[in-house]
Amino acid sequence: MRSPIPDYLDEILDKHRQDRSGAPADYIPALAAADPEKLAICISTLDGIEYASGDSDYAFTIQSMSKPFVYGMALERLGMSAVLDRVGVEPTGEAFNELSLDETSGKPLNPMINAGAITVHSLLGPSGSSAAERAEIVRAGLSEFAGRELTIDGSVAESERAGAYRNIAIANMLRSYDVITDDPDEAVNGYIDQCSVLVTVADLALMAATLAGGGINPKTGRQVLSPRVNRQVLGVMMTCGMYDVAGDWMTEVGVPAKSGVSGGVFGVLPGQLGISVYSPRLDSHGSSVRGTNIFHTLSDDMGLHIMEAPEPARSIIRRDRRFVGANGEMVRICSLQGLIQWSGAENVLRTMDEPDSTTTVFVLDLRRVYSINDVARRLFTEALARMKNAGVRVVLMDPENLLECAGPGSPLPDVKLIDSLKPLKGLKRLRNARLLR
Ligand code: GLU
Repeated sequence: MRSPIPDYLDEILDKHRQDRSGAPADYIPALAAADPEKLAICISTLDGIEYASGDSDYAFTIQSMSKPFVYGMALERLGMSAVLDRVGVEPTGEAFNELSLDETSGKPLNPMINAGAITVHSLLGPSGSSAAERAEIVRAGLSEFAGRELTIDGSVAESERAGAYRNIAIANMLRSYDVITDDPDEAVNGYIDQCSVLVTVADLALMAATLAGGGINPKTGRQVLSPRVNRQVLGVMMTCGMYDVAGDWMTEVGVPAKSGVSGGVFGVLPGQLGISVYSPRLDSHGSSVRGTNIFHTLSDDMGLHIMEAPEPARSIIRRDRRFVGANGEMVRICSLQGLIQWSGAENVLRTMDEPDSTTTVFVLDLRRVYSINDVARRLFTEALARMKNAGVRVVLMDPENLLECAGPGSPLPDVKLIDSLKPLKGLKRLRNARLLR
């Protein structure tokens, strides 16, 4: 069977190709010269598969789409508080190049607008680093997300530098308020090189998939960002990534995303995929016209909106059976299934909470569970400990050690682990089962 996904992507591009509204960015002459007909899309899965269509080998500059990744790099290198002390996380509702600082804190409001991004850039490398040194840190760091060595397009950088009055003004404003402490010109020059790193939609989709996968690059397997930093980056992208249309984007498309004035847009669906689109004609907010529209279509067609509440999970309690042993043991076997998070764990805990329980042996069967998150793990561990304290014998079937109750240092070292229910099947067997004695 030929997968329908590539055909679907071709169809999407065909549907939006006729839209010739908007115009390439003109304040950077090299971008104004872009071929406005170029159109490409790529989806990258969390197991490293790419579905691409259109001009997917065409390289363009990353521009503002570098900002979330460089923010992640700075958080990882300097630590959360050192970065948060300099740059906030509040949406501005303003344009990307607004000369703005938070009135009370005096910090740039967030790392997705230029004021925040120039500040974040200036935090990389030791103080006094040159533009070239910081640009190299950024280039190497972005390459980790892309899983290949990226390069800087010097001609686009020069073209932007020639008219970078607004960014120079922003950097001088930052310097005058001591938000950045190094030479503002070096900060802008390095930031412009950051924006001039060349990527394809395939690179961007993989970079997005790295964020979707909790910071692990699906192709190289490398943990590029720690889970906590990754979450921070996505949170900021979700609220601030689309500048002054962030609210509209979140309600309509519902995918944390970032656009750039080169015409690229990428989106991240945590736990699922990374998507990127390229088409150079921009709308009045500086985002790709076709890119934005394609994201609307994809979100509707593929059910990508992050706020679309999933169907309530089927009960995770697969079976809940009770047996009476020969010596009067009251055995309860609770078999769970699927993915267990807080609400699922709460459900199980509720059924375990029997005020006048006669259960003397409680078997928790996790063989059909494929994932337990941290909070569910802690709730179960606590509940099983309470059962033991109440005198119930606890038996665990957890071949994957999802509850982490096996082995040295485990929270319930004396919980009995078994790997088959055979000895418990039927009363006769129960009578003979060693573990019930
Ligand atoms: N290099 C561009 C600038 O700083 C990036 C802006 C963007 O892509 O939104 O003006």
